[in-house]
Amino acid sequence: MFGQMMEQPLLISSLITHAARYHGQGEVVSVETTGGVERSTWATVERNARRLASALGKLGIAENDRCGTIAWNNRRHLEIYFGVSGGGMVCHTINPRLSPENLIYVITHAEDRVLFIDRTFVGPVSKLLPRLTTLRHVVVMGPRDEEAAGLIDGVLFYDELLETGDDSYEWPQFEETRASSLCYTSGTTGHPKGVLYSHRSTVLHSIGGNTVDGLAIAARDTVLPVVPMFHVNAWGVPYVVAAQGSRLVLPGPHLDGASLVNLIQSEKVTLALGVPTIWMGLLAALKEQGVTDLCLERTVVGGSALPPSMIDAFRDGYGVELIHAWGMTETSPLGTMNQLLAKHEALSDEEKRKVRLGQGRPPYGVDLRILGDEGEALPWDGQTQGKLQIRGHWIVDRYFGADDTALTRDGWFDTGDVATIDSDGYLVIRDRSKDIIKSGGEWISSVDLEGIAIAHPAIANAAAIAARHPKWDERPVIVAVKAPGQEVEEAELLAFYDGKVPHWQVPDRVVFVEELPLGGTGKVLKTHLREAHGDILLKD
Ligand code: ADP
Repeated sequence: MFGQMMEQPLLISSLITHAARYHGQGEVVSVETTGGVERSTWATVERNARRLASALGKLGIAENDRCGTIAWNNRRHLEIYFGVSGGGMVCHTINPRLSPENLIYVITHAEDRVLFIDRTFVGPVSKLLPRLTTLRHVVVMGPRDEEAAGLIDGVLFYDELLETGDDSYEWPQFEETRASSLCYTSGTTGHPKGVLYSHRSTVLHSIGGNTVDGLAIAARDTVLPVVPMFHVNAWGVPYVVAAQGSRLVLPGPHLDGASLVNLIQSEKVTLALGVPTIWMGLLAALKEQGVTDLCLERTVVGGSALPPSMIDAFRDGYGVELIHAWGMTETSPLGTMNQLLAKHEALSDEEKRKVRLGQGRPPYGVDLRILGDEGEALPWDGQTQGKLQIRGHWIVDRYFGADDTALTRDGWFDTGDVATIDSDGYLVIRDRSKDIIKSGGEWISSVDLEGIAIAHPAIANAAAIAARHPKWDERPVIVAVKAPGQEVEEAELLAFYDGKVPHWQVPDRVVFVEELPLGGTGKVLKTHLREAHGDILLKD
């Protein structure tokens, strides 16, 4: 016997339709690539998204065709998200900082038919075009621009393209399991791998990830996704805010601390989301500008390990609650988020802080386990660490174009992370398995070591890497950036580890550098650091 309830496919178009119907005048603020702030509404975004879907159809773009974007977080990118997916095509967001070879690889592998680019990328893309043979159209995201027209033969302009779209276009209805969007992992080793999300996985992620114990985004929030729209769909935030009808602020290309402080204050942002390096820049700018009354209430931090000192800096300095989250491209990305339970209320501030430092618990819809080297399930005691595996409604099954599943034989996805889980299901990521430092058969967490260095007042940022060692195989080395105007000696920083980690985990050396190499999503490229400094202990 079947239930006798309405059945509607979980389509991305239903999210934007809801935003337009129930929050039509809700504001979408967008910092434009050309400068200036543009104000739009959910009703206009929805109408433009429909016009775009219709215009793409008239251009000959078919269902399931991939449409690439190389763009910042802005209003037109948002319309492309909904217009392309809602219209039954696939939105392929591309990281602009991929190497030219990888850019060509992902566009060709995805067989993109259309490429939407922000003005910033006209020059670089024009040089690659002869090798982008799958493309039929390049669309510059803005009004007509003669300079761009001179650089790319037959280029189209977004605003003109919209004019050809039909206002009366209605969102098509189709199976919820159809593909909606595509995002490649950054591929620090080997070729990038594509994760092909479905309408169903995206909508379930938007609902499941936004419970009160999750992102907890409400209609009354003003939300600033600093996390780029080319990085796992900006953690799903564009879909979540459409479902909630929140006010949305899209930051455009300038993600430095000073620009973000100005935007947060002038637009009265209540919730911002991004990787730790972004918040380090923000905290530095707040200090520099002497801001005391920050309007931000919450910030969601994820994507790489959270330096413990960041929780205190936000809470004590500005009364901002920091929500730590973990996920990856393959998990849409929300895998866990850290909110406290009733039992934690009685804890001291220091104990609460300790709980909040971890990556938190999975929402309904995803399930975790940790395994030992022999594939045995490990206990959830908060101590035993093992390989973290995940499964659920919004977790990858196979990579785009791959013949085989990406899963274990019993249907779990191995994250490549090493973690502990406690009896309440709270996850702590100890390290990525490729970053962990293996010293004489013992494991040292690079995450712990860099958290300590970053807590030193004279250090702006730091990374711990495994350096080759003649006796111990690998030993930890810290690569650190000093805070502006601050001085600290190597010996002093090493002494700062005393009592904070067991003696044998204290790093062997500190290398001071001007800046750390960051990937397109703001994460420290440890592969580059290992190449540059991995032999430092062999030379001593
Ligand atoms: P990549 O960094 O490979 O481009 P992802 O953005 O998908 O791809 O990164 C996922 C990885 O980032 C996770 O496997 C994990 O190692 C790391 N990560 C994400 N969030 C956190 C977090 N809160 N704490 C520690 N590590 C994290």
